[in-house]
Amino acid sequence: MSDGAETLFERIIAGEIPADVVHQDATTFAFRDINPQARVHVLVVPRKRYRNVGELAAADPQLLADVLSACRKVAELEGIGESGYRVVFNTGADAGQTVFHVHAHVLGGEQLALFGSGHR
Ligand code: 5GP
Repeated sequence: MSDGAETLFERIIAGEIPADVVHQDATTFAFRDINPQARVHVLVVPRKRYRNVGELAAADPQLLADVLSACRKVAELEGIGESGYRVVFNTGADAGQTVFHVHAHVLGGEQLALFGSGHR
């Protein structure tokens, strides 16, 4: 967990900053990214704040499972469960993480740039 300052995403969850909400449940909250990198680009965050996915995994594996289940639900709601989607957790400076409230990016709705071994 990070310091006491409220993060941007806590303010979105609280409704203090407007967002296009796609899905929510008891432990997670999902909304469209303000600067989409694909036709579908939704952020899935746990309501409880951890700085990054590593801290979340260590502290609360069930909550991490909830986040991933919510990603699957978002993909179904967005109609990309079968066509395919990517789930990304930017973690730390080299990955370009800018908001230190762990969030999964759910990307899809088009052919994404190929990524991973064999595509470099
Ligand atoms: P990161 O770079 O930390 O993995 O991702 C942060 C994401 O939050 C970025 O993709 C950025 O576009 C998104 N973002 C930043 N500010 C806002 C905002 O006020 N509203 C929404 N919906 N997304 C935001």
